[in-house]
Amino acid sequence: MLKIDVHTHIIPRHMPRWTEKFGYGNFIHLEDSNREGFARMMQGDTFFREIASNCWDEDERMAEYDNSGVSVQVVCTIPVMFSYNAKAKDALELGMFLNDHIADLVSRFPKKYVGLCTVPLQDVDLAIQELERAKAIGHVGVQIGSNINGLNLNEPHLFPFFEACSRLGMAILVHPWDMMGKDQMEKYWLPWLVGMPAEMSRAACSMIFGGVFEKLPNLRVLFSHASGAFLATLGRIEHGFNCRPDLVAVDNNVNPREYTKRFWVDSITHDDRLLKYVLEMQGSNRVCMGSDYPFPLGDLKFGEYMEKMNLTNEELEHLFHGSALSWLDLELIKFK
Ligand SMILES: [Zn+2]
Repeated sequence: MLKIDVHTHIIPRHMPRWTEKFGYGNFIHLEDSNREGFARMMQGDTFFREIASNCWDEDERMAEYDNSGVSVQVVCTIPVMFSYNAKAKDALELGMFLNDHIADLVSRFPKKYVGLCTVPLQDVDLAIQELERAKAIGHVGVQIGSNINGLNLNEPHLFPFFEACSRLGMAILVHPWDMMGKDQMEKYWLPWLVGMPAEMSRAACSMIFGGVFEKLPNLRVLFSHASGAFLATLGRIEHGFNCRPDLVAVDNNVNPREYTKRFWVDSITHDDRLLKYVLEMQGSNRVCMGSDYPFPLGDLKFGEYMEKMNLTNEELEHLFHGSALSWLDLELIKFK
């Protein structure tokens, strides 16, 4: 069975020193590590984290995927590269560099890699300009953050960007980042364990209540990490919509539950019971196998547990490629 992983990250090993080039900020660059096969990810002068060579080595990645029986990696940048808080023209330059890198990779291995671009959403006109350019060089979608410099995805000034995605047929992957409350919960990795699921619910609720899906029925959005806390707390969200419409239904009076089968989610739950619930809520044709490769908090067995869940063949086909193909608007034959 063809297997597509819809959620993986990649970064070029060699990048300009953006902080020096732009003359401000704390942009990411990679430095050599003492450990063979690793690089030190630096944020300005500050050590951010050490990453392994499968973050950038295209051959090593393909070998690992082949070993796991997965054919296709949908690749996007690491969210720390979004640079939404930089000057827009600099974020554009940085984004173009990353988008060119992924486009080159996809053009050389079209059956192995599918590309999602990044765009400078602090300036919607530039973001649309880069979205159009990225599509022209082979990207089929765009990865965006769960918030843009603290602003939610329902903000009216962002709407033309979503309109452009709909017009151009570009898929959207919403990724948690810049986690709410991170300054108050640095210990225990809480920004990742608590903040990320909350960020995904924030993004989904903002787009639903803001009427983005209502106004753009053809928009193809995937909420990563199985939509985080959104589906798990949908009962509460719906109850809030019903009992306090004066607070919740101010921009869109459609029950949030109506939207569950209109967007896609990835399968990253680490819990077969939660995945069963997600499948029930979404329908298997809206759930895509995703890993968050190559990061340790991801499902680095690429949905192996899903094959032990007594799912039907049709459900497994949806999970492993059918849902991904419909989200990305690609044909199975492209990967044969
Ligand atoms: Zn991720």
